[in-house]
Amino acid sequence: MVTTTTDPRTATTGTAVQSSIGEPERSLYDIAVGQFHLAADILHLDPGWRAILTHCKRELAVNFPVKMDNGSIEVFTGYRVQHNIARGPAKGGLRYHQSVSLDEVKALSMWMTWKCAVVNIPYGGAKGGITVDPKRLSLAELERMTRRFAAEISVLIGPDRDIVAPDVNTNAQVMAWILDTYSMNAGHSVPGVVTGKPVNVGGSVGRNEATGRGVVFAIQEACRREGFALEGSRVVVQGFGNVGSVAARMAAAAGATVVGVSDVFGGIYNPGGFDMAAVTDYAVRTGRLTDFPGADAVTNAELLTLPCDILIPAALEKQITEQNADEITAKLVAEGANGPTTPEADAILRERGITVVPDVYANAGGVIVSYFEWVQALQAFAWSESEVNSRLHVFMVRAFNELDEIAQQHMISLRTAALVLAVKRVVDAAQALGIFP
Ligand code: NAD
Repeated sequence: MVTTTTDPRTATTGTAVQSSIGEPERSLYDIAVGQFHLAADILHLDPGWRAILTHCKRELAVNFPVKMDNGSIEVFTGYRVQHNIARGPAKGGLRYHQSVSLDEVKALSMWMTWKCAVVNIPYGGAKGGITVDPKRLSLAELERMTRRFAAEISVLIGPDRDIVAPDVNTNAQVMAWILDTYSMNAGHSVPGVVTGKPVNVGGSVGRNEATGRGVVFAIQEACRREGFALEGSRVVVQGFGNVGSVAARMAAAAGATVVGVSDVFGGIYNPGGFDMAAVTDYAVRTGRLTDFPGADAVTNAELLTLPCDILIPAALEKQITEQNADEITAKLVAEGANGPTTPEADAILRERGITVVPDVYANAGGVIVSYFEWVQALQAFAWSESEVNSRLHVFMVRAFNELDEIAQQHMISLRTAALVLAVKRVVDAAQALGIFP
């Protein structure tokens, strides 16, 4: 999806997935739990608290009918999972994709708990999804499916309970439909139930770009630690949606040379660097990146191993695996996507001296500005874009310094350090609350 469009069906995640290198399926939730235990070991967390935090608090599955344009009825399956709410209302995105499963939504909800805690915003973690390829739906079908799903999960969501945001194949328009459906049932406008909504119905300026902008802030902090600059570095970005396209443009604006980008249909490579305005314009016009003039075509698997200094996976999970981790040339991997690196690949990258800036920190810009949007909605007061962006910068720099200190203290990766920071914050809150009754 290119961020300038308002039609969620134009998002380019579809059945024609040109997958990168596959590996035997390992449950995403198992991966998330494994990462948690590494941090729990360092924190000497006892079995009771481990048991609490390795279970999701609430898991709602809904099967619901939608009237299709041709008069037939289709039943869709969707999920809303709240992993933990010790630090505040649950918060998390909504994904439309054919591979959405309860396991995936649970993992993403756990990562949301840690993400909100890493950057110290007062939320717990949640996630939602519908198992659907939205490209095969008309706009009217997509709206009916979204509104029915919003009604189905309205038993869980709310501005002080669980706040929904965009994720893969959902956008401001989808958030507007959810906001309207929820408000119709409440009998009054409830702008705080979603974030990432259009600015004219209470969205925040800067939210659309926030995740990609935050990725670039994270890279700047990590580069400083590693002793090189983003300016002049060669950057490769996988995924050209909300996160990837903005990260690529902002990296270029910061002086980097973007040499490779891709979407679900494949990638393009130019060792001399791309004019990102021209690439964006091409993607908006054609709906894809392939055949961009003057570029070499590469597959998504090839893209990940192109010569570069910084690699930004910003598509889906499990893209950097033990099969390709040895061939990654980047000095720094900044995880725009959630869960793009498998634990096996993580270990290989660490052994090879490649720094991984982990998802729960690197892509937290979206939820940080979602928090700003929620605060603005509750106050009915809009901030300026420069205020939003400079506060985002403050949050990203502060969190990096905190997790870097932990990483150095324990000689651990930035991922495990981020989880140590997050798990400690969540456990401290949960212990202060105690166990009911
Ligand atoms: P999006 O739907 O806007 O874009 C996804 C992009 O990835 C599209 O360009 C699509 O063509 C591409 N893609 C899909 N499958 C691919 C594949 N197999 N190989 C290469 N490219 C592929 O989604 P998004 O919102 O940019 O989300 C991307 C990632 O970032 C997800 O992991 C999401 O959970 C994460 N994330 C998003 C936000 C946010 O605010 N949107 C915040 C934090 C994390």
